[in-house]
Amino acid sequence: MTLLTAPIDGMMRSALLGAADNRALRRFMYRHGMNLGARRFVAGETLDEFLAVVRKMNARGFTVACGLLGEGVEDRGDAAAVVDEYRHILTAFAAEGLRSNVALKLTHLGLAIDADLARANATAVAEHARSYGNFVRIDMEQSAYTDATLDLYRALRKSGMDNVGTVLQAYLHRSEADLAALAAFEPNLRLVKGAYLEPSSIAYQTRENVDRAYARMIETALLRLPFTAIATHDHRIIEHALAFAKLHGVAQERFEFQMLYGVRPKLQAELLARGHPVRLAIPFGSQWYPYLVRRLAERPANLFFFLGALWRK
Ligand SMILES: Cc1cc2nc3c(=O)[nH]c(=O)nc-3n(C[C@H](O)[C@H](O)[C@H](O)COP(=O)(O)OP(=O)(O)OC[C@H]3O[C@@H](n4cnc5c(N)ncnc54)[C@H](O)[C@@H]3O)c2cc1C
Repeated sequence: MTLLTAPIDGMMRSALLGAADNRALRRFMYRHGMNLGARRFVAGETLDEFLAVVRKMNARGFTVACGLLGEGVEDRGDAAAVVDEYRHILTAFAAEGLRSNVALKLTHLGLAIDADLARANATAVAEHARSYGNFVRIDMEQSAYTDATLDLYRALRKSGMDNVGTVLQAYLHRSEADLAALAAFEPNLRLVKGAYLEPSSIAYQTRENVDRAYARMIETALLRLPFTAIATHDHRIIEHALAFAKLHGVAQERFEFQMLYGVRPKLQAELLARGHPVRLAIPFGSQWYPYLVRRLAERPANLFFFLGALWRK
């Protein structure tokens, strides 16, 4: 991002993330968005549509992280239904031998209602995953949930749930300290730049500062953690991680790259062809709109791709 485009991109990002709350736009998008191009980023609304994409991506050599779309659940019954859905998904993976784990958002499991409820629900999903030898990633959401998410992660690990990992966001000032504090758990961490709008009091605002913090965290994690998922589409960061791993003799088994379904597919294929494992985060489900808005906000060009489809209708 150049100095000239940075403020424009920043304004666009804020406007788009703000638009996620607009009801009329939301209704319009749920009615037409899939046909306008949401399918590039979302595997579909049903489990069958999703499984067809997982089969295809596994056949190409990618592993998968399944994200059932939805967040901010406000009803206990809805959160229980999400747990059932994850059980169903994990059973489908085991039945077909698909190479996919699951990623979940704690607010989808009731964190906004009650931390104990989210913990019980996350435990239920993790136990089901463990019965199949599978793994659960707890995504990181807005900063209001960082403490609760890390507390819950630690509680699960203390209770012996070793098939659970979580995420740290490089844009938060606190994350390097969180990384150091979590090291004792020998965690499987996914490192990301961070996708939400956070204030300057707690988060780096410029791309340069976020990238620098991200590179530092990747280096620390590669040296100190048993396994690190480097989740980015930034080829400079990816090359830096590869060079660092080579220099320090970090075995390939100790890290993987992760990218979002539909984002930089050529880079995904190229890394795989060079022998580096790549896991695709593939989301599906009826509640796809907030996810799509975050993807559009990351890259204005995606918005133009969308508006172009609207124009051609
Ligand atoms: C597997 C995975 C899991 C994630 N989990 C979380 C999470 O739990 N919590 C969280 O806050 N964030 C999460 N994120 C999102 C992450 O924080 C970033 O918002 C997102 O990955 C964009 O940042 P980047 O690292 O790709 O770098 P950027 O600097 O944003 O992008 C680098 C380059 O990648 C390309 N690119 C990036 N995004 C897009 C896009 N949407 N469309 C097209 N091209 C694009 C562009 O060419 C860009 O120049 C996750 C990301 C991935 C890949």
